[in-house]
Amino acid sequence: MNKGKNQPLSGNAMPRFGGIASMMRLPLADSAQGLDAAFIGVPLDIGTSHRPGARFGPRQIRAESALIRPYNMATGAAPFDTLQVADLGDVPINTYSIAKSVEIIQAFYEPVLAAGCRPLTLGGDHTIALPILRALKARYGPVALVHVDAHADVNEAMFGESIAHGTPFRRAVEEGLLQNERVFQIGLRGTGYAVDDFDWPRSQGFTLVPAHEVWHQSLAPLMVRVREVIGSAPCYLSFDIDGIDPAFAGGTGTPEIGGLTVPQALEIVRGCRGLNLVGADLVEVSPPYDPSGNTALLGANLLYEMLCVLPGVAHR
Ligand code: MN
Ligand code: MN
Repeated sequence: MNKGKNQPLSGNAMPRFGGIASMMRLPLADSAQGLDAAFIGVPLDIGTSHRPGARFGPRQIRAESALIRPYNMATGAAPFDTLQVADLGDVPINTYSIAKSVEIIQAFYEPVLAAGCRPLTLGGDHTIALPILRALKARYGPVALVHVDAHADVNEAMFGESIAHGTPFRRAVEEGLLQNERVFQIGLRGTGYAVDDFDWPRSQGFTLVPAHEVWHQSLAPLMVRVREVIGSAPCYLSFDIDGIDPAFAGGTGTPEIGGLTVPQALEIVRGCRGLNLVGADLVEVSPPYDPSGNTALLGANLLYEMLCVLPGVAHR
């Protein structure tokens, strides 16, 4: 049932351990023209503050994505029946310059968005959310945000630098990239620099959902509220893999104990169905700290789940 749309290369046509490791073994494309959605890698990790390695995230996520089949057996989503999807490859960042890389990333995303394509980004560290949000503002105006993370990423600066993986959402507020009253930060936890670390995002209108407040709970009710508050506003989903507990996703740069479970992560992403998602990312997978490949495998599957909740996806 391909209805003329791009399809992942079947595991019955080529063994899953063979072939070119594009995301989900989809066709590669060099332009977003005609695409409804695209996977894009951003192999940047010069914004990390602790363990590096997220530069290898896109490549490893693609490798682990080879196991993913087209149909979502839990939700009935059939994304390749109705959406034209391809892998646009990686953004050629400048690994010696974070400032230049941020400009390169924004310039890469602007024509993608102008083509009406919804980007699904394979990170890369969380710095990359800032240039993507800048490009989104140019196309859609300020956006709503669902942000899953152990950290709020609203530092004023890191080592005096205004652009780093712990600052993107502070800059986003300052630059008017967000609809602050429609921002949800989910999974926050860990130790802080000061007791009032989480006061600033709250003072800006964000809704914070610390991990310990939702331990042992379904997040489906939270997502009902998220959908009510965000409504039809253009919405971005930014998913830092460290929002999930290191027991399940230890291959990341700044792990924090007591995190979300994999079922909770699935409830969050699946709960975004019905939102006007204009793009999403999955960041901070660090393959050198992921010897089993489980973190990249989880990241690949979450990116697939993000595709499954984009507007226009058929459900059976
Ligand atoms: Mn983050
Ligand atoms: Mn984080």
